[in-house]
Order: sequence, then C-alpha cells, then structure tokens
Amino acid sequence: MHDLTKKGLHTQVIHAGQGADPSTGAVSVPIYQASTFAFKNADHGAASFRGDKDGGFIYTRLGNPTIMALEESVTTLEKGFGGMACATGMAAVNLVYYALLSQGDHVVCGDSVYGPSRLVLENEYPRFGISADFVDASDVANIAAAMKPNTKLVYLETPANPNLKLTDLAAAIEIAHAAGALVCVDNTFASPLLQNPLELGADLVLHSMTKFINGHTDVVAGMVVAKDEELYKRVLKVHKNLGGTMDPHQAWLVLRGIKTLGMRMERAQDNCLKLAKFLELHPKIDWVRYPFLESHPQYDLARKQMRGGGAVMSFGVTGGLEGGKKLMDNLELCTLAVSLGGIETLIEHPASMTHAGMSQAEREKASITDDLVRIAVGCEDYADLEADLARVLDTI
Ligand SMILES: *Cc1c(COP(=O)(O)O)cnc(C)c1O
Repeated sequence: MHDLTKKGLHTQVIHAGQGADPSTGAVSVPIYQASTFAFKNADHGAASFRGDKDGGFIYTRLGNPTIMALEESVTTLEKGFGGMACATGMAAVNLVYYALLSQGDHVVCGDSVYGPSRLVLENEYPRFGISADFVDASDVANIAAAMKPNTKLVYLETPANPNLKLTDLAAAIEIAHAAGALVCVDNTFASPLLQNPLELGADLVLHSMTKFINGHTDVVAGMVVAKDEELYKRVLKVHKNLGGTMDPHQAWLVLRGIKTLGMRMERAQDNCLKLAKFLELHPKIDWVRYPFLESHPQYDLARKQMRGGGAVMSFGVTGGLEGGKKLMDNLELCTLAVSLGGIETLIEHPASMTHAGMSQAEREKASITDDLVRIAVGCEDYADLEADLARVLDTI
C-alpha cells in the first residue's frame, strides 16, 4: 500500500482509509453492520482482547471495520496518531473534557466557542469540581493571563463561531505548554483541508463531522484525533467505556461525504469570498467578517495559519435585528436553518438561535451582536446566491 501521508489533501480525502475491502475487494468500504464479531477459537478471542496484531474485532463499541476506515481517513488528513469516531460533535467535545479533566482542574476556554462546548463547562463540569474561565482568545495575552497552576486544558476554536475571530494557534499552544496544559482545537470551521492544528503543536483536534466533513446535512457525527500514542490510548480507554461511539452506517455515510470534501470546500469558499466582497460594498450592509477579506482585523494571521478562508462568514444588516430578520424571512435560495458546512447555503441569527443560551452581556463580550447574521455558503451557482441576497437587501 502506498504511503498516503505523503500525498496531497485532495488525494487523501478520496483514498485515506478507503482502500479496497480486503475480504471482498469492494471498492467502496462496506457497511459492517454487526454489533459483535465471531472469534476463530478461544486463543483468537484472547488475542483480540489483548489487542495483539493477530487478534480481530470484538464488539462494535470497541471497534468496527467501517468506523476504523473513517478514523484512519480523518487521522491521515489531520496528521495525527489515532482517531476516535463519536456519535456527535458534542460527544467528541465531552470525550475530551471527560478524559482529560479531574476534580480541582481548571480549563481556559475561548469565549466564543460552539455554544454547548461552553455551556457544559459552565453548567455540568462544576458539579465535579472542574472550573473554567472564558477569554477572548483572539488576543493570546488573554490566554496567558487566565492560566492558573491547576489549568490542565486550553480549549480553542478558530475561526470562532459565529464572530469569525481567529486564535494564533502557534502562540496560544506555546503559552499553554509552557504552563503544563494540553491544547485541544475544535477545527470544524476550517476542516482538515484548510488548517491542521496538530502540525502547529496542538495535542488534540476535534471535529463536528456533521458539518464540512460529511457535508450533506444528513448525519450528525464527531471525531477526536490525538497527536501521539500516549494521548490516544489515554482518551481511547475512556471513549470505549463512556460509550459515545459511532454506528457503522453513520460512519459509512461520512466516508461517502468526505470523498468530496476537497471539491465542496473549494467551491463553497470561492462562493463565500465572492459574496463577502459583494456584501462589503453593499449600502445595506454595515460590516462583513470573513478571514480572507483584507478588512478582517487578523487577515495576516489568516493567511499564515489557514490555506483558505472557509465557507462561513458573518455580517451586520442595516437596521440591526429587524433588518436581519427581514432578510432571513424573505430569502428564497438560502435556507433559514442552523448548522453549516453542507452543500446548500444556510443562514441563521445567532443571538436568537444558536447563541440564545448565553446572556446578552456574555454575547456582547464575545462580539455576538444582535445584528449579526451568519451565513454558511454552499456550492450553488454564485450568481444565484448573489441575486437572492441582493433582491431582499434592496427592500430593506
Ligand atoms: C456543530 C458544532 C459542534 C457540535 O457538533 P454536533 O455534531 O452538533 O454535536 C461542535 N463544534 C462546532 C464548531 C460546531 O459547529
């Protein structure tokens, strides 16, 4: 088998983990829809439980060929040691917290990470004696200032949701490691195609594969990738017993989706950049935030850290919340729905939807203003997307 780690990303999304099936030659990885696997004899069973290389699969919560193919695929793309597929993105987030944190530990977390990733740290983990501080991670000095002797984890998301602020990963990781903390990066917005946090020194990277990796708005799924064997084994042990593992059919759908990640991301981000430039000049738009627009305050960092700006942007419509509502209620092609990274364009209003769980004051601190509209641009014809927005904006 040729070494796929040396191949380009567009080759990897198609081939990594997805070689012909060894037992049948099937070119598409089969769905091994089985909960348990027969041993050849007692010795084979014992070898399987020991994890020997002549052992086999045991039970799907502990490992399954279809799920393993997907783990290998994303691990290759993220340049890590080992991946752990999870039932949802939030199962991946909680796996990381649960596996790494103990009573008395402290977390430094970006203040505008995915809503529930923050909410569980505020509402659930304090019951186990785990505390967290939330900082504007677009200035790494805020991370340094929040580090405590008991800080065990720095949890980051860049680009952040939905304000598209960036964190300088190399600088943040250096600060965290100097203080003895591990770093986990939620790389959902960039996808492995545009940014690889493990290469910049992160310890763990995770994805909601519900978004770009699957890309077809028909699956929820998550993945954690560890940088080395020690960390992989530490998290895997917890993953198998915590139980937020994946179903084989779900894994197969994501394997199908990931094959077109390269083409989808290129087209969607091309549409997104064009739309960002169009909206930036539009008289009914107060501001636009997109990492690859020169007006983004961290444009230089975006060019340094990312291979592309991605396909999500936010903007403010004249007239604040009312203007935004009028826009969302009258679009025809863009669908009013949360989520992102799908092949179709979705638009939403974070203050009343995805980020309604935060208080107004917390939202303002995280630059999630009431006028902010988030658009996750899809792969439609650009002219049709522009026309849909232009038609409604003219009426505002
Ligand atoms: C959607 C999302 C999650 C959670 O994923 P689910 O699959 O919905 O559980 C986590 N992080 C980010 C950045 C997301 O967009």
